[in-house]
Amino acid sequence: MGSPSKEEVLERYSRVFPRAARVTYAPIVGVKARNALVWDVEGRDYIDFLSDAAVQNVGHNNPRVVEAIKEQAERLIHFTFIYGFPLEPLLLAEKLAKIAPVENPKVSFGLTGSDANDGAIKFARAYTKRRAILSYLRSYYGSTYGAMSVTGLEFEVRSIVGELSDVHYIPYPNCYRCPFGKEPGSCHFECLDYLKSKFEGEVYADGVAALFAEPIQGDAGMIVPPKDYFKRLKRILDEHGILLVVDEVQSGLGRTGRWFAIEHFGVKPDVITLAKPLGGGLPISAIIGRGEILDSLPPLGHAFTLSGNPVASRAALAVIEEIEEKDLLRRAERLGKRAKKRLDRMKEEHELIGDVRGLGLMLGVDLVKDRETKERAYEEARKVVWRAYELGLIVAFLQGNVLRIQPPLTIEEELLDEGLDRLERAVGDVEEGRVPDEVLTKVQGW
Ligand code: PMP
Repeated sequence: MGSPSKEEVLERYSRVFPRAARVTYAPIVGVKARNALVWDVEGRDYIDFLSDAAVQNVGHNNPRVVEAIKEQAERLIHFTFIYGFPLEPLLLAEKLAKIAPVENPKVSFGLTGSDANDGAIKFARAYTKRRAILSYLRSYYGSTYGAMSVTGLEFEVRSIVGELSDVHYIPYPNCYRCPFGKEPGSCHFECLDYLKSKFEGEVYADGVAALFAEPIQGDAGMIVPPKDYFKRLKRILDEHGILLVVDEVQSGLGRTGRWFAIEHFGVKPDVITLAKPLGGGLPISAIIGRGEILDSLPPLGHAFTLSGNPVASRAALAVIEEIEEKDLLRRAERLGKRAKKRLDRMKEEHELIGDVRGLGLMLGVDLVKDRETKERAYEEARKVVWRAYELGLIVAFLQGNVLRIQPPLTIEEELLDEGLDRLERAVGDVEEGRVPDEVLTKVQGW
């Protein structure tokens, strides 16, 4: 079977897929992938610094995952979890319950991060018998109705299609662009005083079911809260009987050097949502919550025909085994430090880089026009991403200007270094004016 050309694929894509389904950075028609490398239809290879949107924590086509999928598919592809008793989702749920920092957990399966967050809204409302949800400005929870509604990013679609009511937003603890104008040295957690003040007025009263939080804000630009933030936050929430729902869809399963990023902050959430890397690329999500919370909905209150699929469950078990056996939590921490050090050095050399931040292999490089004003360098970010693509590196930006660096935890050290070399060349080429303005029309992004 001959492959169509890249140009033909791009043209056919634009004819059959609606724009709502996609956001593109570089025109790569991927046909094969292995660990941190992706090959396109023309046979060119790219270093994948995105892990395919934080999905491939154990690398593309990890051999253990491939074997598990093949073996399971030959034996039993599906046996509906809703009425049957397939073994594989049971083994996976028991394993997740062991590794998650949640008291007496139960587990509910779905297919993607968005449905996990929708479920968490339902469980939180049912358990607390309250309606309101607190969320953060610039957060991202997904594309289904509920997840979209608690998302704090400005999202044009919400005003077009309508959304859930009773959602309130608070500022995230962003120490680089503090919404209260503070610097880390002068910070007294003014963001938490703001939250407390809301309870004094009528706004939140006692009607809040849960607060949804990413332990590191991903799509907002890899924002890492100060060390004590979540402990102090949890105290406030506990005083008001509000559940803490932690979205680990992007940060979970080893990405930051811990099974779950919230472990860096020493608090136990009431509910965790997990998806992206869980199935190694197969669609599976999980809500892991205190048993009494997950027992609060009636039968079929949150259930899908294809959830708990045996093949996806086996893939997920293989992902977890791979992280354990290859000691990938420690590897993520070590490689993350190596990458961060190199990016910090790049910052010294390149004025365009205003901030480097992140934990483990969840890193962000904030490009600015001016280090004093921190004005976001939107056009430069587009050019860097395009130039990186030309140099054989897959990278993207968040919030228009923050480079997203999330390679597989299994990336070979030489490839990590090579990718960082290519990134530095791309940044240098943009700074030196060697990337023409025409490329701005080629990169969509968001
Ligand atoms: N939560 C977070 C933190 C995410 O980053 C994403 C995806 N970017 C989602 C939820 C939604 O996940 P999905 O696209 O699998 O529905």
